Amino acid sequence: MDEFSFIDSIKQDSYRQSSLIKGVGDDAAVFRQSSEDIVVAVDTFVENVHFSKETMDLFHVGHRILAANISDIAAMGATPAFYLVSIVVPKHYTSMECKNIFKGMQSLATKYRMDLIGGDTVAGEEMSVSVTVLGYVTKTKARYRSAAVEGDLVFVTGTLGDSQAGFHILTNTGAYQDETYYVNKHRLPVPRVEFAHYINEIDRVALNDISDGIGNEAAEIAASSGVTIQLNEHKIPTTESFSQFPADLQFKWKLFGGEDFELVGTVSKNNWTFVQEAANKAGIDVTEIGYVRPYRHNHVYLHKDNRLFPLKKDGYNHFKQVKE
Ligand code: ADP
Ligand code: MG
Repeated sequence: MDEFSFIDSIKQDSYRQSSLIKGVGDDAAVFRQSSEDIVVAVDTFVENVHFSKETMDLFHVGHRILAANISDIAAMGATPAFYLVSIVVPKHYTSMECKNIFKGMQSLATKYRMDLIGGDTVAGEEMSVSVTVLGYVTKTKARYRSAAVEGDLVFVTGTLGDSQAGFHILTNTGAYQDETYYVNKHRLPVPRVEFAHYINEIDRVALNDISDGIGNEAAEIAASSGVTIQLNEHKIPTTESFSQFPADLQFKWKLFGGEDFELVGTVSKNNWTFVQEAANKAGIDVTEIGYVRPYRHNHVYLHKDNRLFPLKKDGYNHFKQVKE
């Protein structure tokens, strides 16, 4: 693969962001921004660790890694603007395959008017794609995990467990209901940028994106904020046909499955209507799933079948029921 013609082929003909001064083609990109805070995140996907050609086309790989990154930007309450891609290409990869990774990214980038402003292309043993995303947020409005306060309610966007259900369908042959829906949720996740933007006016929101399962993401909010989060198992939203899967898998996927790239957050009760309206405007669902209480022994408790269980980072502890 010729590096120069490859870079030329993935280069945008024109740029969308008005703050951009210099994109691809020099030693580094330049943009100018003085009125907003700049938010940056990076994510790396390695073949056979984070993705496999068996369950995804390279187009999906590109889409998914950019979605994961944009999701982090959304979880900061920011709007994505630029991305840079560092790619390690093994010898057996064709330039067409590499271009497909970029095509997958471009489809999302177009949607959010993002510009590809740089990267690096090197040969190596294993395919790996590392994407850096830059975004903007109104000064002082970045959403931190440390912002949860006792008495807040806990909400989540969309439905949980769908991505894992999609992966299950791809790796276990059988007849499934809504097969395409689940597979697309796995391969082509949509980050919650618009919703994160619409809740901008609220003074205080703790926000995290669900890349690792709601159990873990809620624990991160609780630990950063020094509080305990109590989740109500039966309120956790799932797709209607999710009930077709074995109960133990449903439970595992919705709590620890991850990679749904939904947002989990906490807000004061006074702002709940505003959050619901924001979801409405963004055309998505938002569900109240629990509340924030003072710290007590554990960061996350799960209320299930009238009992309370500590939710551990590595999974649900069946044996240690606690008294409220
Ligand atoms: P340098 O030797 O200065 O690092 P490169 O030859 O690596 O320059 O890159 C030339 C230009 O192409 C730079 O603007 C760089 O950001 C861009 N570029 C290289 N690889 C990629 C890539 N995978 N994705 C996007 N832009 C890239
Ligand atoms: Mg370089």
